[in-house]
Amino acid sequence: MCLFCKIVNNEIAANIELENDDFIAFHDINPKAPVHILAIPKLHVESFNEVSPDVMSGMSAFIQELTKRLGIDKSGYRVITNVGENGGQEVKHLHWHILGGSKLKWDHFCDADPKDFF
Ligand code: 5GP
Ligand code: ZN
Repeated sequence: MCLFCKIVNNEIAANIELENDDFIAFHDINPKAPVHILAIPKLHVESFNEVSPDVMSGMSAFIQELTKRLGIDKSGYRVITNVGENGGQEVKHLHWHILGGSKLKWDHFCDADPKDFF
């Protein structure tokens, strides 16, 4: 069972911010901003590559509810999901990073030249 499935099953403790039948949101153990929450489907989905429209629709509503609850919906925030090797995905259970609580940087993403791909 993967790490986040263990959190869903209460086998690993997490600081839970919001939960319903299908989704759970908990604080990242290594926060990169004053607010850094991970929102996940309880269903094991490996990454954004595999997610269904049905799960995505519930996920969007859940994240909207979460950001209102956290009081960051008006001040702004960022939603990120890392996918695979180049995306830097470490945990292979779809998760959305919700980052906020301060002005976020939009900075240096990689050392490659942005003009080199297309
Ligand atoms: P990824 O790199 O896969 O996009 O993000 C995984 C995130 O999970 C990282 O930000 C990391 O800090 C967080 N994380 C890893 N292990 C745990 C854990 O056991 N508990 C919690 N709450 N977060 C974790
Ligand atoms: Zn899982």
